[in-house]
Amino acid sequence: MQKIEHIGIAVKDLDKAEAIYSAILNTPSYKREIVESEKVITSFFQNGPNKIELLAATDEESVIHTFITKNGEGIHHIAFAVEDIYKEMERLQLAGFTLLNEKPKRGADNKLICFLHPRDASGVLIELCQEIN
Ligand code: ZN
Repeated sequence: MQKIEHIGIAVKDLDKAEAIYSAILNTPSYKREIVESEKVITSFFQNGPNKIELLAATDEESVIHTFITKNGEGIHHIAFAVEDIYKEMERLQLAGFTLLNEKPKRGADNKLICFLHPRDASGVLIELCQEIN
């Protein structure tokens, strides 16, 4: 687990949230990307070595739509950069953590990702992410 790579924030209105986070971080979003499989549109901000990822639902079936319906807008997950996602997934599974996907999947921003169940992590959804070379 190398560092916090990004913090994911669930938002209702991506334009509005981009304006807010541009103002807070004093920098514009450097990219928007749709993740078809998750039915989300993401927007990324760089902040030193870390990023903020805004996530908005593109569809009512999106997990972000479900999250916001239940909890309102707010922090959705914390993502940690890893060097070898397969190794980290194995290590965490052996340590008793529940992986939400058996194999790494393709995430936004050129990453392989895997989520850990929040019930094993004090209520926080944890994402592992490995840069795809
Ligand atoms: Zn993320």
